[in-house]
Amino acid sequence: MTDHGPQPVDRQLPTEEARDLIALVRDLIQREIAPHAAQEEEAGHFPREVFRLLSASGLLGLPYAEEFGGGDQPYEVYLQVLEELAAARLTVGLGVSVHTLACHGLAGFGSKEQRAEHLPAMLGGGLLGAYCLSEPQSGSDAAALRTRAVRHGDTWTLNGTKAWITHGGIADFYTVMARTGDDGAHGITAFLVPGNAPGLSAAAPERKMGMKGSPTAQLHFDGVEVPDARRIGAEGQGFSIALAALDSGRLGIAACAVGLAQAALDEALTFVRDRRQFGRPLVDFQGLRFMLADMATQIEAGRALYLAAARLRDAGRPFSRQAAMAKLFCTDAAMRVTTDAVQLMGGYGYTADFPAERYMREAKVLQIVEGTNQIQRLVIARHLAGPESRPESR
Ligand SMILES: Cc1cc2nc3c(=O)[nH]c(=O)nc-3n(C[C@H](O)[C@H](O)[C@H](O)COP(=O)(O)OP(=O)(O)OC[C@H]3O[C@@H](n4cnc5c(N)ncnc54)[C@H](O)[C@@H]3O)c2cc1C
Repeated sequence: MTDHGPQPVDRQLPTEEARDLIALVRDLIQREIAPHAAQEEEAGHFPREVFRLLSASGLLGLPYAEEFGGGDQPYEVYLQVLEELAAARLTVGLGVSVHTLACHGLAGFGSKEQRAEHLPAMLGGGLLGAYCLSEPQSGSDAAALRTRAVRHGDTWTLNGTKAWITHGGIADFYTVMARTGDDGAHGITAFLVPGNAPGLSAAAPERKMGMKGSPTAQLHFDGVEVPDARRIGAEGQGFSIALAALDSGRLGIAACAVGLAQAALDEALTFVRDRRQFGRPLVDFQGLRFMLADMATQIEAGRALYLAAARLRDAGRPFSRQAAMAKLFCTDAAMRVTTDAVQLMGGYGYTADFPAERYMREAKVLQIVEGTNQIQRLVIARHLAGPESRPESR
């Protein structure tokens, strides 16, 4: 062990512009995010003002085309920004990832007119997005969703309930998957619904184990009218649009998990260097050094895995299997690493005076969102088994 404490992650970045971007993000974190993270998470405060600042700084549209207000950055750069944000505060890192997920449908499948009309405000105009796939009765089996959209002329009327929506009740726009036909996954269509649409309301936020600053709520659609001009892609294409977004979104979750694990390792490392037992700093005990070595190795392996998947995506190659692997590995690693961080800190780790217990509570949700880790295994196994064995689910 050297005698200097945790250092910023030494990142491999493809361009000078990307290096400047990471420097900008680190500065913004130090000034605007890290100082308030613990207190605001405890109070359940969502930092809406931070998201406005991120938007104004060009950090809410990084992987999208500059033509529409995006940052034109490769995924490998965007994900490393996310990792830094999540290490400072998961509510912010995951929030940026969800916002990016919510923009994916329109950016990838919207018409040129739709993109020109909506994307600049979504990517850099201060708006916050949400992604609405899950429902009370359909989580992992997302294709069984029941929220219905019925067409009358040029208007669709949406009725139903969405569940577990990150930014539910505070988002400015919702990308909503709704049933427009009865043929399972092929009867789903995507819509871009404004947050202030009449008939749209949110339940009280869920009372969660962690990420209390990030509101998660049910959304009720009670006769919400959406013009056909806000339909994304073709009728019946909504489930494909939802899954395409999730492939990319899972990489975002993987990067957030690595950031969270890195924060936990850094915290534990600082503690064990300082704390003495049996007349020696804890960090001198080999049993603990082995734990630290395992934690660091899992973090490096996770980072390498999500970056390898991102580079496939950047090269225009298929990356769905690798994204599922990265989500699975990185979030399981984050759960182990954050649990070990609490253990390394003994009783102190179990108190809210240190962030380790919060990291551990936050890691849990990453094994659940955007397809549970059981579902990631199903996705990976389907790729291994071949296309003919692929049932329709996430
Ligand atoms: C904090 C938070 C934020 C979220 N944000 C969003 C959001 O913004 N938008 C959105 O649409 N959704 C969101 N979700 C929902 C999330 O995607 C679902 O919770 C997740 O997909 C699991 O669905 P479920 O909770 O209904 O669990 P279920 O599908 O009921 O699963 C319960 C358990 O059974 C397992 N399981 C289910 N089917 C199988 C199978 N075939 N084989 C093996 N195991 C199986 C699951 O892995 C899980 O362990 C969020 C959830 C949380 C907790």
